[in-house]
Amino acid sequence: MDLLRRIQDRSLALFPHFQQIRHHLHAHPELSFEEFQTAAFVAQELRSMGLTPQEGIGGTGVVALIEGKNPQKAVIGLRADMDALPILEANDVPYASQNLGVMHACGHDVHTTSLLGAARILTEFREFWTGTVKLVFQPAEEKAPGGASILIKEGVLDNPAPVRMVGQHVAPQIPVGKIGFREGMYMASTDEIYLTVRGKGGHGAAPDQLIDPVLIASHIIVALQQIISRNRRPANPSVLSFGRFIADGVTNVIPDEVTIEGTFRCLDEAWREEGLRRITHMAETMAQAMGGTCEVNIVKGYPYLKNEPNLTRRLRSAAEQYVGKDNIVDLDLWMGGEDFAYYSQVVDACFYRLGVRNEAKGIISGVHTPTFDIDEDALTVGPGLMAWMAIQELAFVAESSGA
Ligand SMILES: [Zn+2]
Ligand SMILES: [Zn+2]
Repeated sequence: MDLLRRIQDRSLALFPHFQQIRHHLHAHPELSFEEFQTAAFVAQELRSMGLTPQEGIGGTGVVALIEGKNPQKAVIGLRADMDALPILEANDVPYASQNLGVMHACGHDVHTTSLLGAARILTEFREFWTGTVKLVFQPAEEKAPGGASILIKEGVLDNPAPVRMVGQHVAPQIPVGKIGFREGMYMASTDEIYLTVRGKGGHGAAPDQLIDPVLIASHIIVALQQIISRNRRPANPSVLSFGRFIADGVTNVIPDEVTIEGTFRCLDEAWREEGLRRITHMAETMAQAMGGTCEVNIVKGYPYLKNEPNLTRRLRSAAEQYVGKDNIVDLDLWMGGEDFAYYSQVVDACFYRLGVRNEAKGIISGVHTPTFDIDEDALTVGPGLMAWMAIQELAFVAESSGA
């Protein structure tokens, strides 16, 4: 039997084990940078495969190597994030969170399970593939500055240096069994914008004696959208959204101050810098023109995420072999952020999606909601697919480096 079939069969046979792992992780979620039990569990599982995990990288990160034939011939990195979110789980399932107020609502339990599963398969079949797989179990995707940037600083991309990084994320909008890919620009940079507009408050009946920060702030909000509609090149996607606008007066009392919070997202570093500069200038000068002031505070987030086109194309055809052409879907641009982007800035990277939706079973909730869950049939695909794609890409890298 060929290797693909053997991996698929083994993956199916291991499904109950993968399900157990996912249930354990889901029931014991931990917040960003606090993944201590999760990391210990991951390390234990890796040791049970005969691997030698390195623990405590970037705080709670775990890294391990699996060597096939000619291990120095090619190195590929596979990444899973391990952190959960501060959300109270609303699902009534036997594996519901036992850590009240903390929940795996972004599927990072699934990513960790998939990578552990891929590791087991890769280990079992190690005499059939070439190169080295570097497993990267990463802390804190959900919280700035993000675990990825810390791991990179701590040398996760060195010694041995992976020439590729591959990451997987659940997709609640994609039916279970299907896999999504996108070449090139995929996810956005995310910067946080905090504005404090100051004027002079007082009686709402006497506007002539005041400098109304509510009106100034309203003008600023409208004016800032002009930057997106007038200064941005239309072909260059970008989003500016404000979700918080606090003017803490009452019907007839105008406050001294208004605070505004929002997010600026784009797919282009030059535009990101220019946009932030224009936002700052517009907010400050608009407030000044109206007699007040605006203090602008920008907190830089993750960079944009780009999927290297050639790598993505090769992984896509490996996935076609694994799940069939009909089960591959094209992904749209998504203006969400993801700290996997940091890897994509340094090495050829691909971030793809694992379908987990099942309308017939009522599994339709989005990530970051208290009812998020997956159709676990996704675990019959996720781990084996990741192993297979890694094997195929390693073969490509080894061949192109000369036999
Ligand atoms: Zn998330
Ligand atoms: Zn996530």
